[in-house]
Amino acid sequence: MSPNFVSRRDLLGHALVGSAGATLSGGFSWNLVAATLEVPDPTGSANLSIATFGFDVTPPIGHPCCGGWIKPVEVIDDALEAKGIVLLGAGKPIVLCAVDWTGILNEAHVAWRVALAEAAGTTPDRVAIHCVHQHNAPFACTDAEGIIAEQVASGRKLSPILDLDYFRRCLDKGRAAVRKALRQTVSVSHIGWGSAKVDRVASNRRVSRDNSGKVLAMRGSACKDAKLCALPEGLIDPMLRTIAFFDREKKVASCHFYAVHPMSFYADGRVTSDFAGLARKARQDQEPDCHHIYFTGCAGNIAAGKYNDGSKQARIDLTKRLHEALVASEAKLEKTDPRGIVWNTEAMIPTGRANPTPKALAMLIGDKDKASQNPNRLALELAFHRRCQKKIPIVLGSLRIGPVRTLHLPAESFVEYQLDAHAFAQSKRADAFVATAAYGDGGPWYIPTPEEFPNGGYEVSVAFADSSFAKAMKLGIESLL
Ligand SMILES: [Zn+2]
Repeated sequence: MSPNFVSRRDLLGHALVGSAGATLSGGFSWNLVAATLEVPDPTGSANLSIATFGFDVTPPIGHPCCGGWIKPVEVIDDALEAKGIVLLGAGKPIVLCAVDWTGILNEAHVAWRVALAEAAGTTPDRVAIHCVHQHNAPFACTDAEGIIAEQVASGRKLSPILDLDYFRRCLDKGRAAVRKALRQTVSVSHIGWGSAKVDRVASNRRVSRDNSGKVLAMRGSACKDAKLCALPEGLIDPMLRTIAFFDREKKVASCHFYAVHPMSFYADGRVTSDFAGLARKARQDQEPDCHHIYFTGCAGNIAAGKYNDGSKQARIDLTKRLHEALVASEAKLEKTDPRGIVWNTEAMIPTGRANPTPKALAMLIGDKDKASQNPNRLALELAFHRRCQKKIPIVLGSLRIGPVRTLHLPAESFVEYQLDAHAFAQSKRADAFVATAAYGDGGPWYIPTPEEFPNGGYEVSVAFADSSFAKAMKLGIESLL
């Protein structure tokens, strides 16, 4: 195992060191995290049941979008939601949740896990929180907000990153929603799985390269450059995967997984769940009695660019094609009985990249004349360094039942991680089926593969973790599978 891995005992020690500072910005204690990681992974029982929950996380008018470097909220086109499930009867409860936000980073991510764990009567290592990653939406890092607030207090005119009162209200709603859901549990007799190929949505962003492999130009979420659009799709995972929970014939919940940046157009101050959220909502309207949840997979280098000119029509078309895949993925589900379901985790302490150093970042943030550097972006990187210094772990998770595995990964992981995970699982078991959610703890921002670091490009330029973290994550995934 790489040095990035820590034993549960080490983690406990680190976490207790972290708790010396007592209450953190979110008002929670590290002791809660520490205590959980001593618990051995319990084996599942035959008495599985499920509770479904959802709550509104739409930001107020004026709230920053995407961490404060695009237009703040002016209009709500459609609501942002957090949707999840609680599984009971496989050891302590397991919570899976997807949030219509850009990202939840560092201590903010721990705060979400702790809040939902408290409500579900479980431990934060058994709570997987993911973002769908829309951009006209909040980007939540409580620590970075504190760094920017200090600058504002000293007279700088900077956009805030996050309204902390709104953030706390969302956590309160989350606790209430989970507690309410637990009063209406339904037994799970079967787990189903299926997949469908998605037509013309995902494309690789890093397809324009020189002969040595170095990335030249990026094909973003929307692309109007005809030459870039004409380049091939590149490496993607074309499959949308679904894992569904049944009470005999009744489908109670469906979790969908697909790897693409979910934006058609943004930065116009109009809050929307965008094409991924709109497709999910359309599916929800079709099946009001089944709880539909959408997880964004490893889309760090994947966006709709090739098929998206950023027009209103493109949003409609992308929504329609993704919705068709949601329906197709569920059309023919294989099923197994849920006996033996287990939840496993690997905790990793990340290391920040060597440059810029935390000291250099702090100086740049405080330098009023460095207008070319976005202080909010720098604050998010400094916050990541601080969480590394505090040895706050990133927790990878996986639910396993029969041939089916979910994989819960952090941040903007490259698509190779989920493709390799699927291939690795199938090398161990030919019928293995791996559904991957990324955009968990967003602290590291982009997580390229170790091989892609030398090829540069935008994603590598804002990969906050050292490349050793990428190597460790690959080992962590294999260990889970
Ligand atoms: Zn992104």
